[in-house]
Amino acid sequence: MLITSTHLKRVGVVVAAGALITGTIAATASAAPVRTAKKVTTRTATVDDRASAGTNRFSYSGFWRTCARCDRSALGRGYHSSDRVGSVAGLTFTGNRATIYGIAQRTGGATAVYVDGRYTGIARFASRRRAYRAVYTTPWMQAGRHTVTLRVLAGRNRVVAVDKAVVVSTVVPATPRPAPRPVPKPVPKPTTPAPRTTGPTSGFASITFDDGKTNQFENARPVLQAAGVKATFYIISDALGWGASSMSASQVRELAADGHEIGNHTKSHANLKSASGTQAETELSGAQEAIRSATGITPTTCAYPFGQSSEAARSVAARQLRACRGTGGGTNPTSGFSRYDLKTFYVTTSTSTAAVRDAADKAKASGSWVVFVYHGVGQVSSTDDVTTQSFIDQVNAIRGTGIPIRTVASVVS
Ligand SMILES: [Zn+2]
Repeated sequence: MLITSTHLKRVGVVVAAGALITGTIAATASAAPVRTAKKVTTRTATVDDRASAGTNRFSYSGFWRTCARCDRSALGRGYHSSDRVGSVAGLTFTGNRATIYGIAQRTGGATAVYVDGRYTGIARFASRRRAYRAVYTTPWMQAGRHTVTLRVLAGRNRVVAVDKAVVVSTVVPATPRPAPRPVPKPVPKPTTPAPRTTGPTSGFASITFDDGKTNQFENARPVLQAAGVKATFYIISDALGWGASSMSASQVRELAADGHEIGNHTKSHANLKSASGTQAETELSGAQEAIRSATGITPTTCAYPFGQSSEAARSVAARQLRACRGTGGGTNPTSGFSRYDLKTFYVTTSTSTAAVRDAADKAKASGSWVVFVYHGVGQVSSTDDVTTQSFIDQVNAIRGTGIPIRTVASVVS
């Protein structure tokens, strides 16, 4: 763009104003005042999306539009925008923390956010009313060079408008250096082999969701997209019409379009523990038909409500589905497993990320198949639900083990 004199002045003003702000870290970074002997100051710097400032700068790849003078609140009145899935905006900065600003609007979408290459969350640009706001703040990190990457996610509304970043860094006053002491020669350490967590690649992990909750669509879906993971969503067909907290048929279709598996979680969420063949038929076949007619998708696997199934229910399932999941604990051998009562790792609010990692690690090491069961993501309204942050951490943990993550259907087909 053309850098106008007004623009230069504005950037100049911002940089000058932010050049050196004295205060303690405690005062700027946290609410609780902490008294430390050494007085540390913080510096803020504003990075415009269209003008580089030293080592702090934005870069863009994929498809981006720039607009000049199209938004009053944007720095320099312009910003970068994209609605192309996979387009990337990157910020490189030196400091402890960065906050990225953008424009939220009706057609706004979301981006996955990676800090120093690690997936850390979602920046959201959707808003009923157009609003200029902070869309993402990194955690407080060690001083140094960092990167923040925003990747445009798929969705009906996808517009992402990025404007500027505000970088905060600490300035530690220089202290007189003591004379360097002679450095003792390092004694070579005996080499211990790294713990072997990765055997030959074998085993699988599946991530499954029960009950077709809207918060799975809203909170888990972007995380899965960002991680490139395909999951299995078990849908109660009656719930397609239950409204707000249950997914609609069109949301289910969007999940399928992302490449996720849509499975059968019965018609009315009836307990099939002592179901007769007729009852199981009503619940399982009924759901097959209803899901197909509402979404055009025919499930090939199921999950029994409450994890319970009668002999009759399992034989009804066997006639029309390739596999069904219970909620009993354990892993499944990758061949010769109990196809109509798959074992699981049931995740609850209190399940630690370490436990999830451990289960994936063990499945990988033993060449077995671990099926994770999730319910609500984001709102924790029962002990079966997890926070979005726990879900992010757990998906990262599973991925981190290197075990292939596949839908249930793709493992059993
Ligand atoms: Zn359920």
